[in-house]
Amino acid sequence: MKYLIDFFHQKVPKTVTEMPEYFKSALVINEELMSFYFLLSLLVFIWKNQRFEIIPIILLVLMTACLAYHSKMSMRANIITFTLLVLIWTGYYVYAFGWACGGQHMLLPLLVLSFFNIYNSPRKKLGMLVGLLIFRMVLFDYSIHHISLYQLDSTTNIIFQTINSITLFLILAIDFIIFGSSIQDTERELRLNNQELHKEADTDPLTGLANRRGMLDMITFYREVSPDMPFCVAIGDIDYFKKVNDTYGHNCGDYTLKELARLFRERSETKYETCRWGGEEFCFFLPNQNLDQAWNEMFDLCEAVRKMKLSFEGNDFSITITIGIEENDFHSPIETILDKADKKLYMGKVAGRNRVVM
Ligand code: GH3
Ligand code: MG
Ligand code: MG
Repeated sequence: MKYLIDFFHQKVPKTVTEMPEYFKSALVINEELMSFYFLLSLLVFIWKNQRFEIIPIILLVLMTACLAYHSKMSMRANIITFTLLVLIWTGYYVYAFGWACGGQHMLLPLLVLSFFNIYNSPRKKLGMLVGLLIFRMVLFDYSIHHISLYQLDSTTNIIFQTINSITLFLILAIDFIIFGSSIQDTERELRLNNQELHKEADTDPLTGLANRRGMLDMITFYREVSPDMPFCVAIGDIDYFKKVNDTYGHNCGDYTLKELARLFRERSETKYETCRWGGEEFCFFLPNQNLDQAWNEMFDLCEAVRKMKLSFEGNDFSITITIGIEENDFHSPIETILDKADKKLYMGKVAGRNRVVM
């Protein structure tokens, strides 16, 4: 039921844009098979009755022309022509050979094409469904009240049934393969794009580390999954980073940030998560660590930063970092805990930088 409600509420693009390639291919194959089917039926008819019949010939010529001028006609004109030709053919078929030959089943591909046309609104699809149903019922009513134009012997009947069934099954199979695989391909592509977008949205492009959003999402996830888990957060800020930019240039500043990120990645392993909090600030999330453990970890990191040899365009230099740490109190929102870590970082700056404050 939900699917039906969703179906009637689906949004359809207002302006007719370019039809997807798979739809064009399906339509061409439908027209090719239908032309071949028209031709075969006509040949059987001529062979049996030993004379030409003008209407099937005209329909065959028009269907072939529709196919030949496929690329020159607009898509809409092509679909309408194809639909009309199939309708006339079906009508003529039932009129000429009666209901038993099964020509009326050729209406089904029209329904399939209509429902897989992404620019058809639900109302149009419903209209097509009802219209074809009524047309089919009218044909049936006609066939039971009138004797068909030609009485077919059993051999011709079998031949017609065979041609009809094979053509119908072939068209439907090809349509479902094309439309089914196109839907699966689109869905797969969308999922991959979504994953990629999610990853991009959570990653800092310069350093490749998680960004603030990625870090907050991760901490929130950890807290939801293990609410009783102790953890610490730390915020680190490069000391006098402006000087690096001013002395060696902005590119050198970028290089420094990347090198620092590389060091953080190498050292953190599974012990903590690092993100670029913004500018020249980094945030560390240390799960399952109390304040003392986190302090030791951050102290080692601070040392490693101090010892790191940086060299950019012939200039050798080094940097230091100040870090503030705060422990999970199990009740405050994460923003409050991070805020406290930031205040401790500020205290570290005031106290002279290049240190860890807890
Ligand atoms: P403090 O020890 O007080 O932190 O001094 P500081 O110079 O590091 O602090 P301040 O906040 O005055 O300067 C931070 C600088 O970081 C300013 C800004 O230009 C630089 N910065 C922020 N993001 C980037 C970046 O992506 N690339 C580069 N090259 N510089 C950046
Ligand atoms: Mg700063
Ligand atoms: Mg700084």
